[in-house]
Amino acid sequence: ERIAEIERANVTLPWAESARLIEAISPELDAATPEQRVRVELVRLRNLALSGEYPAGIERTEALLKQPMAAELRLRALNLGVNMAANSGDFPHAFNWLKQGLALAPAAGTESANFLGMASYLYSSVGENQTALQFAHRAMLLVKNSDDLRRYCLAWSDLALAQDNAGLLAEAEHSRRQQLQACTEAADPVFVANAQVTLGDLLHKQGRSAEGLRWLRTGLAGFQRAGYVGGQNENRLDLAEMLLASGGDRAVAEALLAAVLGEFEQRMDWSNLQRARRGQSRAAELRGDWAESVRLLKLVDAAGQQQMQVAKARQMAFLQVEFQSQFKDQQITLLEKDQAIARLQTRAAERRQLVLVLGLLAVLVIVALLLSFLRRTRADRRRYRWLSEHDGLTGLYNHQHARALGEAAFQAARHQQRPFVAVTADVDYFKQINDRCGHAVGDQVLRRLGGWLSEVFAAHGVIGRSGGEEFSLFLNCDRAGAEQLIGTLRKRLETVRHAGHSVNVTLSFGLCQARPDEPGIDRLLRESDLAMYKAKQRGRDRVVDASELAAGHDGRGGLVVVGTGIELGRHISERSLTEIRRAERVFCLADAFALAMVMEMRPDTISLSGYYAEGRDRRETYREMTAAIMAEVLSGVQVCAVFYGHPGVFAQVPHAVIAAAREHGVAARMEPAISAEACLYADLGIDPGDSGVQSIEATQFLVCDHLLDCSCLVLLWQVALSGDLSCTRFEADVAGIQALVDKLRRWYPLDHQVILYEAAVLPIQKYRAEQLPLGALPGAQYQEFTTLVIPPLRRPRREAPTVAAGAVDA
Ligand code: GH3
Ligand code: MG
Ligand code: MG
Repeated sequence: ERIAEIERANVTLPWAESARLIEAISPELDAATPEQRVRVELVRLRNLALSGEYPAGIERTEALLKQPMAAELRLRALNLGVNMAANSGDFPHAFNWLKQGLALAPAAGTESANFLGMASYLYSSVGENQTALQFAHRAMLLVKNSDDLRRYCLAWSDLALAQDNAGLLAEAEHSRRQQLQACTEAADPVFVANAQVTLGDLLHKQGRSAEGLRWLRTGLAGFQRAGYVGGQNENRLDLAEMLLASGGDRAVAEALLAAVLGEFEQRMDWSNLQRARRGQSRAAELRGDWAESVRLLKLVDAAGQQQMQVAKARQMAFLQVEFQSQFKDQQITLLEKDQAIARLQTRAAERRQLVLVLGLLAVLVIVALLLSFLRRTRADRRRYRWLSEHDGLTGLYNHQHARALGEAAFQAARHQQRPFVAVTADVDYFKQINDRCGHAVGDQVLRRLGGWLSEVFAAHGVIGRSGGEEFSLFLNCDRAGAEQLIGTLRKRLETVRHAGHSVNVTLSFGLCQARPDEPGIDRLLRESDLAMYKAKQRGRDRVVDASELAAGHDGRGGLVVVGTGIELGRHISERSLTEIRRAERVFCLADAFALAMVMEMRPDTISLSGYYAEGRDRRETYREMTAAIMAEVLSGVQVCAVFYGHPGVFAQVPHAVIAAAREHGVAARMEPAISAEACLYADLGIDPGDSGVQSIEATQFLVCDHLLDCSCLVLLWQVALSGDLSCTRFEADVAGIQALVDKLRRWYPLDHQVILYEAAVLPIQKYRAEQLPLGALPGAQYQEFTTLVIPPLRRPRREAPTVAAGAVDA
């Protein structure tokens, strides 16, 4: 409350009164809040300003502004600071504080009205009249509707000054009268006096000096009453000027001027000094003292020069602050742009990171996909591999893989000089199981057998299903060990119950132990096959050791392989007939007619054709046929094996059995017979000596890199089976014939005439010799034994004569 009282006193009473009150309160100020202390300090500053102690006031203002305070209080401090700085000519301070204050003004409510007034005054003083007017109007707008009368009074004063400076004298006069009224209502004696004095001056400027003089005098009295010294000398000057201008009391005017000169000189108030000197010069002129008037005019000029210096300094300070603030604005703009760039960079960096993260995620997803794909392919590969190495029905190894593993196991055993045995096992009368109970039951028997075989033999070696109902075992043991294991298996066999059937199975086993010098498992396989057939011969459900076979052979017996020729009954040689008759055991592999002819001679003939089956690998069939014949050969009887045609032409089994028999030291030979080729030359009337002959099995021609000689006769055998790599087909396949034609086109045009040849089999038949263009082959009819005859495309050409050619001619 006391501080509020001080503030009130400061504006309503002579300043010394408030100074006294401050003096009284100062011992207690330590207990005041920071804000209260600022308020007291503001009163002190105002008192310094009113008493004209500007340097001290400016210093204290600077110190005060360093403290924190509310925007409104800070604005008041700045206002006082600007006021004192401007009055003392310290324009750098004045304009700097002005800028600071203007920045604060919008936040300081009606207090900013005072400040805008100050701004208006300062802008006026540097000739920025329009800006000054704008500030004054803004200040007026702020206070017009408030009930703060004193501010209203000041706002009129500011507006009037700006109008006066802008040369709007009538408007300024109106504003001064408004000021007079408002300040009277606000009970501010200083500003009432100010209004009166400035009104007087305005009237004087408008040529109404007498009226002006009255106002001036009233105002001066007012100032005196309020104890306001700052304006007194200026007013005396005004009065003197007015007296001189209006022809008033010259002596009074001169006395007034003399009284104020010292003060103006001391304050270096060049503007007023100039006016005072001009007044004196005018007075001298009126006195008629021309010399003195001129001398004084020179002083006017000197003061004018000084005044200009001050104005320049003010202008400079103003421009500097303006420039600095523009520069600052530019800097701020630059900083804002920098910040914007920084923000963009951060955003770009964030986006880069996002892209990076997304990229990483994508890579992870791809890696995961690849991994799962890899896992799947690896699983698939494992599965395919398993399928390629195993038999799907029994889960045992298939023949090829078992053979490869068996070979490896054998080599390991050989290396360590351990015994090694190969066993062939074949289910007895398995066909009957299929016939009686169906294939499903047969399959179930094979499945169970696979399990039992694994159970007994897995720990001792490799087990494979070599095809059908036959199994191969490669065991790391000697023959005694093998027989013991086989014994275990035979005991393990149970009745298989499936689909309402109960089946008991037995197996026949052949085993062969490796010799110390055994190079591989080939012989072991052949011998165990033979031994197994021997077991079948001896009544099945038993084990035969291959060594018994060799032991049983005592030089008796032998093997003769004969052919029936092509035409039934007519082509067979006398020697062949003799061999058939005298043999103890006869095997026959021929068509039904030939078999019937042989059976007529030897009803005990064993037919080998039963080994053939559609879809069965012929190589497997041939192996079994060989084993079956060999089993008899090794038992020491005289065996005759009869084959259709020539037994040595396009026939594997005859050559294989002769080799196998000889390997066992058994005498074996082959009787020649009439072949299809022999018939061909006779039937077609071709002499192979004319051009030479190339004679090739059709499938071999297709898959191997044979080169054809177009000047030779070319014979391709068994064309109906072209391309049957699986060796399981018995009929013509159009795709195979087409492939053959495609390959032949490398040498022959499609219209080249070829012959399909089939020899006559029965006496009542005629051979087939069908001529057709090469391109028509896919549409033709074929037998299993049809031969393609390709006549030469051209005659053989003679080479340049050589010694060899001469020898041929000779
Ligand atoms: P043997 O005592 O002389 O060995 O007489 P077998 O009947 O067992 O011999 P053969 O070779 O005459 O018959 C074998 C049969 O096995 C013929 C074939 O149909 C059958 N077979 C081959 N593979 C399978 C198969 O996977 N499942 C079934 N159910 N039968 C098969
Ligand atoms: Mg069998
Ligand atoms: Mg079999």
